[in-house]
Amino acid sequence: MTPPEIPMPTTNRRLRWLLALPKLGIVLLLAALLSLLWLLHRNEIEEERSALIKDVLWLEQNLRFHLASNEEQLEQLALEMGTLPDAERLFRLRASHMLRNTPEISQILWLTPQAMVVDALPTAHLPDEEIETFGPTAGRRAFDMARRLGKRVYSEPFFLEGNRAFIEVLIPVFQRRQLHGMLVAIYPLDTLLADQVPWWFTAKYKVELVDDNNTQYASKTNITGNGDQSYEIPFDPPGYGLRLRVTSYRTPDNSLQRLLVGAILVLGTGVFWSLWLVRKLMKKHNQAEEALRAEHAFRSAMEDSLTVGMRARNLEGRVIYVNPAFCRMTGFSRDELVDRVPPMPYWAPEHLAATYAMHDAVLAGAAPEDGFEITFVRKNGERFHALVYEAKLIDGNGQHTGWMASVLDITERKRAEELARQQQAQLQFTSRLVTMGEMASTLAHELNQPLAAIASYNTGCLNLINQGDNNLDNIKPALEKLGAQAQRAGKIIRRVHDFVRRSEPKRAPCALADVIDDCMGFIEPDARKQQIRIDTDIPALPDILADRVLLEQVLLNLIRNGMDAMNDTPPGERQLQISALCDGPEIRISVSDQGCGISPEIRDQLFTAFFTTKPAGMGIGLSICRSIIEFHRGRLWAEANHTTTDGHGTIFHFTLPLESS
Ligand code: ADP
Repeated sequence: MTPPEIPMPTTNRRLRWLLALPKLGIVLLLAALLSLLWLLHRNEIEEERSALIKDVLWLEQNLRFHLASNEEQLEQLALEMGTLPDAERLFRLRASHMLRNTPEISQILWLTPQAMVVDALPTAHLPDEEIETFGPTAGRRAFDMARRLGKRVYSEPFFLEGNRAFIEVLIPVFQRRQLHGMLVAIYPLDTLLADQVPWWFTAKYKVELVDDNNTQYASKTNITGNGDQSYEIPFDPPGYGLRLRVTSYRTPDNSLQRLLVGAILVLGTGVFWSLWLVRKLMKKHNQAEEALRAEHAFRSAMEDSLTVGMRARNLEGRVIYVNPAFCRMTGFSRDELVDRVPPMPYWAPEHLAATYAMHDAVLAGAAPEDGFEITFVRKNGERFHALVYEAKLIDGNGQHTGWMASVLDITERKRAEELARQQQAQLQFTSRLVTMGEMASTLAHELNQPLAAIASYNTGCLNLINQGDNNLDNIKPALEKLGAQAQRAGKIIRRVHDFVRRSEPKRAPCALADVIDDCMGFIEPDARKQQIRIDTDIPALPDILADRVLLEQVLLNLIRNGMDAMNDTPPGERQLQISALCDGPEIRISVSDQGCGISPEIRDQLFTAFFTTKPAGMGIGLSICRSIIEFHRGRLWAEANHTTTDGHGTIFHFTLPLESS
């Protein structure tokens, strides 16, 4: 698992630029789309306008054509009325014919040069108002002008019948170059528009006739609403400032366009929104990346500073990661280790089977929780001891993906431990020699007895032989006793030999009573000499797992210390007791004396090496005793002996766990 290489950070400025570019693009695209729509709209308006102008011109032409054709007919009638004899009949015939064919003309009048009505169609009797028109009104003014000019004249528009607007066309009738009368055709302007403006025109436009003051005279449309644009042209003639105004109406159904604009805006907003989300996401991503980078830097620093080797393997046992400390420890580079499968190059060939077994145990999840020791080999062939702790490798999803081992090079520690152990053993040995030295004179005395007995039995036997006593039955008991004494002497020597022999501590089942018996064998002569009574109170106990010699050494030390402490105790009270009892999961052995006791000042230093209050003491006895007892997983401590009458004396207790037996 090589730590992933994290790319160099994208700077915030670059990121902002990267984010700004699509935004700019979207803005430009939106602007381009809206401009396109605006241009299309403009184009449409332009087209509409030119269509409007075209239509207006067409309409004006159409109206003018109609009016001109009506003028022609009326002029023809006026001409014929001036030349042909039966003018009344002609007027009636033609006027009725015209009224039938030109519905936009509401009435045709024949007036005298004095503006008196000669005849009129469709009504013979004119309504008063219409006659009035030829008073001081628009009609009258037009009449006068036509009479004066002698040609056709259109009147100004005027309102009659409430708000209906009219215009008149006046054609003078000449008879032999004399004004004979006047033909007047009346156009109601609304009818003119109604008849002459086609339906399709009014479906698109509103057609109005207005004057310069914006007074509306007539209009026609089939649509409602507000006009979009309008176009005006002078309607002159008939004229007098009359204008034809056509207003176009936008087709109300431009929903598609609106839909399009709406869609563009919605899409634009959507894109902006998604960009904003992306920005937020990228910011978060950036922050996470920052955190990851910091974490990575922290981890790398930690890894580099670690002196503990780290090695990760996947579930198949393939190495997926090693840290620099592990590489330093083994001497192999990361590339030489990563991706390797067993046997690993750092496995010691001589321990291959054991290493394989441990490897399989680790993969099976059965590695010892408190770590295990193993011997590895460096690249240069050097062996080293490693303490390995294995733990599950869990990935980000909580999946068990392998095993992570922390590896400690404990070669130095082991060497130091071994040295300390050797020194301790040496010290123990020395201490035993010292103990033995202290007991040497008594032991010599002890040994002297069987040797003296052997000598005397030997002398007795020789005497019998010299006396010529051939009775072997007399010599045999002496020889048997001699043998027994030799055995006794041999036992003493063997015991001494066993005690002082240098050997590796080895725990084996042994009976506590036997160990105490052996001790008594050593100590009894001295005790006798010092008038000390030693009582033992050892119940029947199961065998304990202990190194017999070391246990003897502890007991002898404690007994000798107790005896030394009783130097000033009156001889009658010099009593030492050795007892043992089962105390839950352990055996507690106590050695109590009635000696001087331990003062509070020295209590704390009792177990310190080389602390002694004795002139010839070495001060290592108790410290060795404690380390021996701790080697046996027990405890050693001292307390005042309160069982004595005057409260003097000390009890040394030590425990040995029963489960070790
Ligand atoms: P040493 O016997 O050579 O002095 P030890 O380590 O055995 O060394 O004892 C250290 C000291 O502890 C002794 O000098 C003595 O002062 C004290 N001590 C040990 N056992 C007893 C005891 N039973 N009563 C009183 N003092 C004791």
